[in-house]
Parts: sequence; C-alpha cells; structure tokens
Amino acid sequence: MESCLFCKIAKGEVGSVKVFENENIFAFNDINPKAKIHILIIPKNHIESIKHLQQTDIKLAGEILLVAKEIADVKNMSGYKLIFNVGREGGQDVSHLHVHLLSADFKGVI
Ligand code: 5GP
Ligand code: ZN
Repeated sequence: MESCLFCKIAKGEVGSVKVFENENIFAFNDINPKAKIHILIIPKNHIESIKHLQQTDIKLAGEILLVAKEIADVKNMSGYKLIFNVGREGGQDVSHLHVHLLSADFKGVI
C-alpha cells in the first residue's frame, strides 16, 4: 500500500536498521525501543492486522513466527516476548501487521 509506513520500510524507501530479510519477511529495530532488544517483524505484503489474515496466509503466518524464533536464537535471547497488537482498540498504531520481539527485560505497555 503506497501510503503505508511499514510497506515503505520493507521496500527501503524509509530508512530502518534491518535485522533480517527474505522473500516474504522484513525485520528491523523499533525506533522507540521498549526493551534492550525490540525488533518488529513484518510481512512484505501489506496485510493490515491479524484480523485481516486469511486461510491463504497460513504459511506466511507460520513463517513470521519462525523468523521471530530464529532472530531470538541468533541473538542468544534466553527469554523473550512476542506481542501482536490488533486493531486500534488493541493498541495497534501502525496498520500493517507486525509482531514485536522484545528481550526479557521488557517493561511497560506497548
Ligand atoms: P504498534 O503500536 O502499532 O503495535 O507498534 C508500532 C511500532 O512501530 C511502535 O513500537 C513504534 O515505536 C514503531 N515505529 C513507528 N514508526 C516507526 C518508524 O518510522 N521506524 C521504526 N523503526 N519503528 C517505528
Ligand atoms: Zn503496509
């Protein structure tokens, strides 16, 4: 989607600190970290939120979780949190599906 911030980040049109990239997924440091490590993992395709996932996205949804696990492994994170905010009322500010990967020293509300 043209006006979407995370679509622009995935395409490199808006700068970010990239952590991981493959054909389907992009991961980058959160600009306002809520933990020592705070990474956002997104599909490159524009999907608004978990609410908008469809049966055809089942492989992609699994891949997002596996990428999160692999990044946590590479960074030797012994414990971590994975958080999906879903919809405005669920605390989602950016309308492009993302999972927050936070190291265990997480504090506060995202
Ligand atoms: P949400 O509240 O939608 O679940 O999370 C959006 C996250 O995106 C927030 O943690 C916020 O700090 C992060 N964020 C917002 N704008 C940018 C940006 O331009 N670059 C990066 N790297 N992160 C951003
Ligand atoms: Zn988008």
